[in-house]
Amino acid sequence: MAESMQADKDILSKLFELNRLVAEAGEALDALPQLVNLIREILIFDNLVIYLAEKDKLIPYFARAVGRGRAKEADVAWGAEVARRIYKADKTIVKRESLEDTGENRLLLRYYLGVPLKQSGRKIGALILIRFGGPEYNVSQIRLAEFVAEQLSHLVEREQLILKVNALERGRQLGKMQEDFVATISHDLRTPLGFIKGYTTTLLRKDVEWDKETYREFLEIIDDEADRLRILIDNFLDSSRLQSGTLHMQFQNIRLATVLKDVVERVKIIGFDLVVDLHSDCSEMVINGTPARLAQVFDNLLDNANKYAPKSTVTVQLKKTDGKAHVIVRDTGPGIGEDHLEKIFHRFYRVPGSEVGTRGSGLGLFICRQIIEAHHGEIFAESVLGEGTTFHIYLPIVS
Ligand code: ATP
Ligand code: MG
Repeated sequence: MAESMQADKDILSKLFELNRLVAEAGEALDALPQLVNLIREILIFDNLVIYLAEKDKLIPYFARAVGRGRAKEADVAWGAEVARRIYKADKTIVKRESLEDTGENRLLLRYYLGVPLKQSGRKIGALILIRFGGPEYNVSQIRLAEFVAEQLSHLVEREQLILKVNALERGRQLGKMQEDFVATISHDLRTPLGFIKGYTTTLLRKDVEWDKETYREFLEIIDDEADRLRILIDNFLDSSRLQSGTLHMQFQNIRLATVLKDVVERVKIIGFDLVVDLHSDCSEMVINGTPARLAQVFDNLLDNANKYAPKSTVTVQLKKTDGKAHVIVRDTGPGIGEDHLEKIFHRFYRVPGSEVGTRGSGLGLFICRQIIEAHHGEIFAESVLGEGTTFHIYLPIVS
């Protein structure tokens, strides 16, 4: 009598322990191995399987063979059929299965105990315990299994709630990002559009006669602003396509030196000294890429130098470093503070203060990095305040 009271007390303290572990558990799948070990101290079984319902189909969520029957045959006895019956009937089921010629092989005599898993009265799956060769489950063991099933249901319920909350949070963040994106776009598009509208309305005024020079000057402003608007729209489209992975890039084997030379040719009328140093042994260097997109990267770096490091000396270099094509764009401008060096590659990021007197939407370097990464390369910046900024680009060489 005293012995059985002691055994009951032991079981009770293990049930408390189980309850505590479930309450404190993080991710269900991480917690389950420890829980199974504890459950085995309360209930004898060889295999334990948790099935969860997905669109009314039962999918094994967790399975563990712990008993003496850790043989091949044991591995195939996961009680899927019993689980389906329990789920359908929505009640605990005990089943004895004796396969042909049981003989000495206890693995062929299987005792199943299956309990439905529920969340607030709604069935969500089934817990199956399997014993090979017996003994049969008695009433108190069935009650214990039902208690265990209840605890496991809590564990799974919490995990599913966390997943739902995370999905909602991701959705909320996405919505917020889209809102910010639209707000930034509208703001940036308004500026050039405002100029175009303002100067056009002015020119169209019937009560004023504009001289030829003013007329031309206003038209040039409209022309510049229309160009600016086109660049902005292209950048917005590129950045959202790059982000969603829908920007199509046609890769081909190209000479990187040729792309660089073309870009440098185009940016002749600029406000800085340009030094170009394309290593002669790099002139034949071939990489796999899209000339137009790579040109866009170099264009933005030179445009930035023009805007943020005016009147400085800008060096464009191409060499081979560690077996990779290495492009360096260095200026002797004001530089970028350490805290901002990584952030300048983020969408819409502009170093505070640099927006005064310059126009831009902080998309250029974000697009550059996405393009370079699509080429399996890397781009980063180094800078010393007051001395200048250096951008490094590494790209894999084909030959
Ligand atoms: P956009 O390129 O979209 O027209 P942007 O030039 O402001 O706008 P990025 O090219 O992404 O955007 O550059 C991000 C920020 O990094 C700039 O706003 C500027 O603050 C800083 N920056 C970029 N290049 C330099 C540079 N060479 N020297 C100093 N600051 C720089
Ligand atoms: Mg830029």
